[in-house]
Order: sequence, then C-alpha cells, then structure tokens
Amino acid sequence: MLRYSGYLRSARWVPELKVNAQTQFIRYISRFCKRIEQKNSIKNKSVVYVTRKVHFNAAHRLHNPAKSDQWNAETFDKCNYANWHGHNYVMEVTVAGMPDPDTGYVIDLGKLKNILEEKIIDKCDHRNLNMDVDFLKGVIPSTENLVIKFFEQIQEDVERAASKGSKLFSVRLFETERNFAEYCPYMSTNY
Ligand SMILES: [Zn+2]
Repeated sequence: MLRYSGYLRSARWVPELKVNAQTQFIRYISRFCKRIEQKNSIKNKSVVYVTRKVHFNAAHRLHNPAKSDQWNAETFDKCNYANWHGHNYVMEVTVAGMPDPDTGYVIDLGKLKNILEEKIIDKCDHRNLNMDVDFLKGVIPSTENLVIKFFEQIQEDVERAASKGSKLFSVRLFETERNFAEYCPYMSTNY
C-alpha cells in the first residue's frame, strides 16, 4: 500500500473536486491500490503452484431468456438445442503458496479433493447445469461463466485449508479436449 500512497495524497489535493467527489475518488484509488497489492503479493513472491484435476459429466443448454428464440438459435447454434446436450468436463484447480513448514504442503491434496467433491462434483455431476445446481441459478452455463462461479464456490474453503498466505490461484475448465476457459483473478489485468 505504501508504494501507492502518493496517489492518495494527490487525490486529496485535486482542487476542482468537491468533498463528496474527493471521497469517492479516494475510495476508488484505494480499491485500485488494494487490487494491485493483492496481485503483487502473489506475482512477486516465489510460490509453488499445486493443482488437482477432477472430472464430472453434466448436461446444459446455452440460452438467454431475455432474448428471442431466433437470437438464441443464431447465437448459440447447436448449443441452444432445446433438449440439452452433455459434456465430459475436466476441471483443474490450482492453489498458489509456500509449503507449510510442519507438513511440507501448500495444501493437503486430500482436503482439496474433498472440497471439490462437496462443493462442485456432488452438485454438478450427472446433473443439468441450467436446472439442478443452486449456485448456477440464472447463469448461462458457458464455460466462462462456470469457471467464475466454481472459483467463487470454493475460494473460502480452499484458502482456509491451505498453508498460511496461500491463495486459490485459478480454476480451469475443459468443456472438450480443445476448448477450455480459465479464471485467474490475479492475472486479470495482464491481458
Ligand atoms: Zn455445451
């Protein structure tokens, strides 16, 4: 935070901003600084990345109910067929951190497996992602949306189980062998 405190000082002295606007500006800059610090806390450290791979099978349909049937058919093509279709999903979850001095683990992979089974697999495997999964209600189940939701679903439990200071680094989801999406918030400003 110290490295960016100059922004905060200058924000207080932008003369044309009224008090409310100044406060909002300072809040905005504070959030901006915090995001950079969070990212750097992972990026600039030497860390170990530990990954667990899991599988599940599920049905879905890409459909935006706010749009017309024609728009959906043209946009999603086969993925919009009314009677669903399935995928053999492969998910890779990566945790970044340093090994705990007592165990040598960034995270006990058995514990990570249990979290993934409880929070994702039990809810999604052999299910319809549009209809059956509580944390996906109202979400178009594209691979992109799924990685974000899966990340949010497991982040707290994973980071509690991992060594001190470790972070859930990324969730990668393969819909097919060739098509996958990855959600990695710490890298999000790098593209
Ligand atoms: Zn599909």
